[in-house]
Amino acid sequence: MVNFLIFGPPGSGKGTQSVKLAEKFRLVHLSTGDMLRAEIASGTDLGKRMSTIMSKGELVPDEVVIEMIAVKIDSTKGFAGFLFDGFPRTVAQTVALEKMLNDRGMKIDRMLVLDVDHDELVKRLIARAEQSGRPDDKDPAVVDNRIDVYKSKTEPIINYCREKGIYQPVNGMGSIDDIFARLAEQMKKFV
Ligand code: ADP
Repeated sequence: MVNFLIFGPPGSGKGTQSVKLAEKFRLVHLSTGDMLRAEIASGTDLGKRMSTIMSKGELVPDEVVIEMIAVKIDSTKGFAGFLFDGFPRTVAQTVALEKMLNDRGMKIDRMLVLDVDHDELVKRLIARAEQSGRPDDKDPAVVDNRIDVYKSKTEPIINYCREKGIYQPVNGMGSIDDIFARLAEQMKKFV
């Protein structure tokens, strides 16, 4: 098994690239954002509680996403590995993920970080708001808050992973196909 984190600020293209990469490398794509939106769509109590947090651009509690990921890891068989998208988002989530994987004889093999200019991020999120129907994309104040939360709570994971020698920056500017080719080239070294 080989496990990757795909990492980057909101609007960096993690979701778009993850779907394509998971298919190419036979990986299971696990997106906590998608899982949370599915909870909201099913109208569960958990979904209702999380929806309030997400609509402000804040992070949901670590325990909630850690539990969701644990359930998925244990119920998935027959793939080459996992591609984690939008998880972990805090250092505490990273430590929990490492433990979960280590307990099962696995590890985080590589962290791929998409580097995208701030202006380009804002441009992509505004464009996505038109199509996605995601309420957290529509309000510019919420978008700004998500970028701030990324900087304060999520970006510290980069240093944590750099110290472990698994950090790999990737240029996230340009066409979807160009970025895909850059990511695939890095991942090929591990699969
Ligand atoms: P984006 O990459 O555009 O920010 P996501 O779909 O990954 O979008 O996440 C949407 C929202 O879901 C986040 O702003 C946050 O509220 C919540 N969320 C998703 N994943 C996590 C996580 N691992 N920890 C905490 N909150 C999360």
